Amino acid sequence: MTGATAGTPPGGAMTGTATSGHPRVAVVGAGITGLTAAFEVLSARPGAEVTVLEAEPVAGGKIARHRADGYTVDLGPNGFLDNGTDTRTLAEALGLGPRLRPAADAARDRFLLRGGRLLPLPLGAAAFAASPLLGPAAKARVLAEPLVGRARGEETVHAFLARRFGHRTAALLAAPLVHGVTSGDPWTTSLDAAFPRVRALERDRGSLLLAALRGRLLRAAG
Ligand SMILES: Cc1cc2nc3c(=O)[nH]c(=O)nc-3n(C[C@H](O)[C@H](O)[C@H](O)COP(=O)(O)OP(=O)(O)OC[C@H]3O[C@@H](n4cnc5c(N)ncnc54)[C@H](O)[C@@H]3O)c2cc1C
Repeated sequence: MTGATAGTPPGGAMTGTATSGHPRVAVVGAGITGLTAAFEVLSARPGAEVTVLEAEPVAGGKIARHRADGYTVDLGPNGFLDNGTDTRTLAEALGLGPRLRPAADAARDRFLLRGGRLLPLPLGAAAFAASPLLGPAAKARVLAEPLVGRARGEETVHAFLARRFGHRTAALLAAPLVHGVTSGDPWTTSLDAAFPRVRALERDRGSLLLAALRGRLLRAAG
């Protein structure tokens, strides 16, 4: 792909339109960032001449899918959190609102593959106490998380988890957490860049454990 009139859906036909008197904008990259930037420019300045430049033959960047035997396989992202409104607002502005599919309830259950077995991630207090994923000492270290102070600077995801929850928990969770979200490397991925809300939670609330507990209590209270 060489050039695209912004507003064209990812993977759609590409034409350039020159309209004199309007700003000319070039966007490099037709991943969701570039396409969103182009869409925002056109929304703010209708008639702007926007060209999206993309090295690959199709738009979408990391967002891609493969169809085989009647199945659709997501090659990258398969969803987004809609408790912040930005992505949802964008999808609706693009007319995609009716096509959004909420995640199935079963997707709340997360599993780790350990020794050939799928073990559920313990999300409640009783499940945590009974879980074979961590030994007693590692569990005690997790429970000590509220006593840990806030970070003084940027950290990797692994360093963050090790500092707050202990090394065993970091060894268990850092890779699945980062692989599951961005396919990145927890030893080099910056928590601050990739998971800014987690950093904000630590900064604003101090303890992630207590913040999660508070969230559960609030939800239970409706
Ligand atoms: C396996 C996987 C699973 C993921 N799951 C989720 C998920 O469930 N939910 C979620 O929110 N996020 C998820 N992510 C993260 C999400 O996919 C990315 O954050 C997002 O797609 C990045 O979009 P982008 O436009 O910034 O970059 P990219 O998608 O990488 O797009 C950049 C584009 O720019 C092009 N480009 C780069 N340089 C040039 C150049 N010089 N000239 C022309 N073109 C250029 C590239 O070819 C590419 O098309 C996942 C990522 C991966 C890899």
